[in-house]
Amino acid sequence: MSNNPFSLLADLFYPRLCGGCRRNLYGGENFVCTHCLLDLPFTHYHRMSNNPLERMFRGRIPVDGVTSLLFFNRGGMARQLLHRVKYHGDTQTAVAMGRLLGLALRDSPFGGCSAVVPVPLHPSKQRIRGFNQSSLIAQGVHEETGIPYHDDWLQRVEATESQTRKTREARWDNVATAFSAGASLAGGVGPVLLIDDVLTTGATLEAAARVLLAAGAGVMFATLACSNR
Ligand SMILES: [Zn+2]
Repeated sequence: MSNNPFSLLADLFYPRLCGGCRRNLYGGENFVCTHCLLDLPFTHYHRMSNNPLERMFRGRIPVDGVTSLLFFNRGGMARQLLHRVKYHGDTQTAVAMGRLLGLALRDSPFGGCSAVVPVPLHPSKQRIRGFNQSSLIAQGVHEETGIPYHDDWLQRVEATESQTRKTREARWDNVATAFSAGASLAGGVGPVLLIDDVLTTGATLEAAARVLLAAGAGVMFATLACSNR
């Protein structure tokens, strides 16, 4: 993370590759090169009240704010980076992208949340994959914002099918009862920042948030990417 001669030497002998263009990374560059970082399709929704994602949840659930760091375009870089995390187990990229999200949120209304909570995977799915990408993203957010991280406040009690090929209604039926409160979930706390990797119809976030709201917590949503709308 610095330009000191040792890290430059380490880059020479153990090259790290850009998650976007696969060129070598140098010095302070982290997970993507400077060119790719500037090319990322940022939404800037965290600074926009009444943004399109907040409007999407209006009338569905009383959420205090919704944002997503990047647009998830077909063939775009956000998709490519998340693909590396999910299918190639690139956990470092997940944490690094979470830090980028945390950096954006730190001085915004989202930075005032009192807990960072990842959307959990069902234990059987997590065992197969070996990690939960939402937890890694949430850890990155915690590292940059200092907001306490709690991965035991929510539990996934149903192993749901993949959401990717389902309609909006089918997605809701699939996840509506998938979550329950963990024993350590504290009621009456300030807003909880609920973290997921991608926001599409919002069914998963909505189902998870209902558990937090029922416990008396306020909720804000932040994801790494959202489908372009
Ligand atoms: Zn690059």
